[in-house]
Amino acid sequence: MSGWIEVIAGSMYSGKTEELIRRIRRAQFAKMKVQVFKPAIDQRYHETHVTSHDQTQVHAVPLLSILDIWDYLEEGTQVVGFDEGQFFSMDLVKVSRDLAARGIRVIVAGLDMDWKAQPFEPIPTLMAIAEDVTKQRAICMSCGQLATYTQKTSGSENAQVEVGAQDFYEARCRLHFTPTVEQQIMHTDNKLDFSLPRT
Ligand code: ADP
Ligand code: MG
Repeated sequence: MSGWIEVIAGSMYSGKTEELIRRIRRAQFAKMKVQVFKPAIDQRYHETHVTSHDQTQVHAVPLLSILDIWDYLEEGTQVVGFDEGQFFSMDLVKVSRDLAARGIRVIVAGLDMDWKAQPFEPIPTLMAIAEDVTKQRAICMSCGQLATYTQKTSGSENAQVEVGAQDFYEARCRLHFTPTVEQQIMHTDNKLDFSLPRT
């Protein structure tokens, strides 16, 4: 049987990790042999787990380099998940193709844009070659509409990669996003506009 590649893309807080965990759990219910990997750069949460902002988690092996996967891939693995795919090198593209060629279902979750709204490789390339792409959306912290951007609210103006959670970033819609470091919006009133439907 042929394998395939699935990508779960979107901004921070859009539920990429939650969706990855959901798919991994369902594969486990189906008694499939599953392995999850994450870049060792991401030490925000438990070291050998992938954890969503909602604190759900699955076991994951941290990799210093994506090419180390060949030391950890076990015989008979049918589903391979990667979280924080944007922190792996472009070699993730070849590795995903090689895994799929072996008949493995590959699921990659990651940021499709950085905080300057530039495509964040290798996710955009993976989105092009994948059989299935899901673009997740968060909720804009400014207006409550759907958010596709990651707003940087403190930290360095230069680094593309500055690992952090609530301290540095928040989700924003196209209207309220700026590609510069901008102060966090203070919610002193509670006037978010929930008049339009959102999914
Ligand atoms: P991602 O991996 O895309 O960063 P997670 O799956 O870790 O996202 O977390 C998604 C969860 O984050 C949501 O279910 C919700 O509980 C929480 N959350 C916090 N801020 C927001 C926001 N602005 N929009 C949507 N969800 C948010
Ligand atoms: Mg995540």
